[in-house]
Amino acid sequence: METAKLYEGKAKVVLADREDGFVRMVFKDDATADNGLKRGRIADKGRMNRDISAALFRYLEAHGIPTHYVEAAGEREMRVRRLRMLPLEFVVRNTAAGSLARRLGLPEGQELGRVVVEIYLKNDALGDPLINRDHIRALGLADDGDVDRAIELARRTNDLLRPLLLSCGLRLIDFKLEFGVDAKGEVRLGDEISPDTCRFWDAATGTRLDKDRFRRDMGGVEEAYAEVLRRVDAAVGGAA
Ligand code: UDP
Repeated sequence: METAKLYEGKAKVVLADREDGFVRMVFKDDATADNGLKRGRIADKGRMNRDISAALFRYLEAHGIPTHYVEAAGEREMRVRRLRMLPLEFVVRNTAAGSLARRLGLPEGQELGRVVVEIYLKNDALGDPLINRDHIRALGLADDGDVDRAIELARRTNDLLRPLLLSCGLRLIDFKLEFGVDAKGEVRLGDEISPDTCRFWDAATGTRLDKDRFRRDMGGVEEAYAEVLRRVDAAVGGAA
């Protein structure tokens, strides 16, 4: 009863919690890329991503961003508020990389003149297509005000995380956020913030410390996640 599985995704399992209005996310070691075509495991990833996400959610909450975070539990679990998730992925980009670099023919690493926020439809069967506000309105995918609020929170999250991460030598290239609405109708940041969902480049050397090492078979994947955890702990500890 207490451990009823509510949902299983590619990187996390969501379990029911004893208390109504809350759920438990279990972070898995499984890794996927190319919309699920590439599969593997990253040793100890679940624990490291839970720890990185927990530290960043705590920091964001302390700086005025409403999130789903309640507490870290066990080895690789996080207790969170239950949200009605928007079926959207919000990608914030500071520097060209990945699909943006491919789509617009930009070299990876080129600074964007301003912060770019993109919205993708969360739909594996369609390969998470890029969409815009008109698509969301036309298809009735989410409330207009909720999307406005999510975009505002995504920008503020970037404004908070960029200097925090730079203080521990990490350049925040881009990242993906997901938002949901709580029981009171408030939009909150959900999901995770980890090397699975962000691009982090070492500020001094440009070394990639994120899931691109897995996506591109670069090796040193576990070591990169462990390095991010060490640095984030130091930065959040130092900033607390
Ligand atoms: N991202 C993610 N989940 C997705 C797609 C992207 O977490 O389903 C993250 C990815 O880690 C990167 C950012 O969003 O930090 C932008 O990814 P991009 O669109 O460049 O995707 P790519 O095709 O390179 O994975």
